[in-house]
This record gives sequence, C-alpha cells and structure tokens, in this order.
Amino acid sequence: MIDLRDEEKMLLETVRRFAKDKLAPRAPGCEQQERFDFESWDELSGLGLAAVTVSEENGGMPVGFPVLARLVEELSSGSAPLSAAYLVHCTVAHLLDNFGTDQQKQKYLPGLLSGQMMGALAISEPGAGSDVGALATTAHMTGGDYLVKGQKVFITSGGLAGLYVVLTKTGQGNGSPELTALLVEPGWPGFSVGRREKKMGQKASPTTELYFEELKVPGSALIGQPGQGLSLIMDGLNRSRVLVAATAVGLARAAYEAALDYTRERKQFGRPLVAFQGLRWMLADMAILIETSRRITEHAAQLVQAGRPFIKEAAMAKAFATDAAMKVTTDAVQLLGGYGYMEDYPVERYMREAKLLQIVEGTNQIQREVIAKEIARS
Ligand SMILES: Cc1cc2nc3c(=O)[nH]c(=O)nc-3n(C[C@H](O)[C@H](O)[C@H](O)COP(=O)(O)OP(=O)(O)OC[C@H]3O[C@@H](n4cnc5c(N)ncnc54)[C@H](O)[C@@H]3O)c2cc1C
Repeated sequence: MIDLRDEEKMLLETVRRFAKDKLAPRAPGCEQQERFDFESWDELSGLGLAAVTVSEENGGMPVGFPVLARLVEELSSGSAPLSAAYLVHCTVAHLLDNFGTDQQKQKYLPGLLSGQMMGALAISEPGAGSDVGALATTAHMTGGDYLVKGQKVFITSGGLAGLYVVLTKTGQGNGSPELTALLVEPGWPGFSVGRREKKMGQKASPTTELYFEELKVPGSALIGQPGQGLSLIMDGLNRSRVLVAATAVGLARAAYEAALDYTRERKQFGRPLVAFQGLRWMLADMAILIETSRRITEHAAQLVQAGRPFIKEAAMAKAFATDAAMKVTTDAVQLLGGYGYMEDYPVERYMREAKLLQIVEGTNQIQREVIAKEIARS
C-alpha cells in the first residue's frame, strides 16, 4: 500500500469525481458516435493532468509514479479511450522532458503541458508489430534534413495529435537496424493521416494510419541520438506498461461495481442474484483479481519511482492486470445475463475495451517473453 500525502489524496479524489461525474456519463455517447471526448480532454488538462509526467524544471507539475498509476486507474474507470490517449500523450511528454533538446522543450512542452497539443507515438507498421526491428520507414540525412519515407499503422490519436514521435530506420548496424526517433509535426509537407480504423471497442479513441511521402524533417527534430531510438522509445514504453496495467485495474473495477450493483437489485427465484452462492463467489473472485492487479501494478510503480530495475515487474503487471480485466469484464457480462449483452448497460463495452489492453504496448505473449528473458538473465 502506498502512503499518500494529503495533497495526493485530494488530487486522486478530484480525479475520481471527474471520472464518475463527467467521463463515465459521456463515454457511451462518444463510443456510439466514434467521437473523441474533447470536452473531457480540455477539463482533464484544466486539472493539470497533462503536465504530471514532466519535471518542474521543464514547467511540469510532477507526481510520483505510484500516484500517476492510481490517477490512471481513476481516469480509466470513467473512460478507457480517454485514458488511452492520455497514456501516449504522457509518454511523449516524458520523452521530451528526458531526451529533448532545450529548443525542442521550448517549442513543444508548453503546448503538451497545457493539453492544447496532444502527443502520439508512431512505431507500428504493416510489417512490424511485435517485431519492431522489422520496421521499414526510412530516414536519410540530406543536407541537414531527414527525408522520411514510409507508413505507420494503428496510431492512437492519429489525426488529433499536434506532435508525433516517429521511430525510423536510419541505417543498418552490425546485424541489427539503426533506429532513430524523430519529432514530426502534422503540418509538414509529406505528412498525411490515412484510414481511421473500424474497431471492436475504444471507438472514441481514433486509431489511424500515417503516411510519410518524402517528408522533410529538420535535423533539429532528432530526439536523443541517431541509433538511440529503440532504447529511448522502450524507456517510455516500459513505464507506460505499468500505466496500461493501471488502466486495466480501473476498467475491471468499473465492471465489477456495475455487476455488484446489478446483482443486488435484480431478483430471480424471489431472491437478489447476489444471494446465490455461485454468483457471490464470482464477485469474490473478481474482487481478488482487482486487488491483486492493483498491488502488482503498485509494486512496479514503486520500482519506477525508486529508480530500480522494473522491466520484469512492469511486464508482469501489464500481463496480469490486463488478463484479469478481460476475465472480470467477461464475468460482469455473465452476471447481468441477457442485459449484460445489451448496449443499455456498460459492461459489454468494458469487455470490448479490455480486449485491447491485452494487445497494445507489447502483447501479453511478448510480455511473457520479456519476463522469461529477464528471469534467464538473473
Ligand atoms: C487500437 C490499437 C491502438 C494502437 N496504438 C498504437 C500506437 O499508438 N502506436 C503504435 O506504434 N502502435 C499502436 N498499436 C499497435 C500495437 O502495438 C500492435 O498491434 C502490437 O504491438 C502487436 O503487433 P501486431 O498487431 O502487428 O501483431 P503481431 O506482432 O503480428 O502478433 C500477432 C500474434 O502473434 C503473437 N506473437 C508475435 N510474436 C511473438 C513471439 N515472438 N512469441 C509469441 N507470440 C508472438 C502476438 O502476441 C499476437 O498474438 C495499436 C494497436 C491497436 C489495436
């Protein structure tokens, strides 16, 4: 259990109320209309939440990583799609804070911190999903600029973001490609947003293709060093995996609470559903999974905060909590019976939203590979 200071408790309580009163009521309409919830994004930014992953020195309002994880849990209990956009935004802000040049920080951080500019991460390609090293987007230096050619797929906040961190191939090293991260603005000639994907869930969060056709990126938009792109991105993604785990906890909690309310109200055979042992035990199992997920997430977050190795624990938290959220949300649908399958209740949406968490930021198979490699190394 983390010990929270008074101001941290107040912040979490504010976010909890925001999620309950604003995000949750708006979420079904945004899902149905496949509409990003700009109103909530602006309010979230107004609460200062877009600035919490950046150091004070660079204008941010940082919170400790365990507090950030709890904050993400609260947000996603109201809206998982908004939480998805928030996570990539926070990762971009974190990368700039830690690896950006002074000029890049001055140019982009004010917009990112106020939430007026959204950040997005462009790594995946048609031929490079789990195998990031297979990416084919090239960036060649010509007269001080990078000439970027290629395509990205499945980009969260594609078309919304004002700044993209794009992973490119700048050469071939000793057997492995040299990967380099570049900052890209959507207004630059040669950049275009492609198809918006039709998805199973999280429809309020746009997922798009990006195209780079002879896109000229100034040399000053290099973030980190040439060839440092993968380790830089992984620094962001390893931390972000803990936050995906926190998203899963919030989503599972929302499903559990909806199921608990329903089973207390609904009567069959003259008794509330919650009186049947078979169903009570399902609720107990859901509560066990949520509590365990929260603890394993908190543990990984504390390691991040302490500056200790956390890659294995982040992968464990991500795999465990997202698998748990899939089980909890599926069981919530079961507990509501036929009504659980209907859009009038939120649990079918939660179930569709949970599925994505097992896939993004490294699938849960890849997390198990990471864990196995870390175990073999120790
Ligand atoms: C809605 C959505 C939003 C996304 N947002 C972003 C984003 O913002 N930015 C971005 O860059 N990407 C994003 N992605 C891409 C996401 O990161 C990839 O989908 C994910 O990494 C998996 O890649 P893939 O889809 O190509 O699957 P593949 O890599 O082709 O995997 C297919 C299956 O094979 C398994 N598999 C692959 N390799 C192995 C292995 N070595 N061992 C065991 N099993 C393996 C996988 O687990 C999976 O089950 C998003 C995806 C979705 C669906």
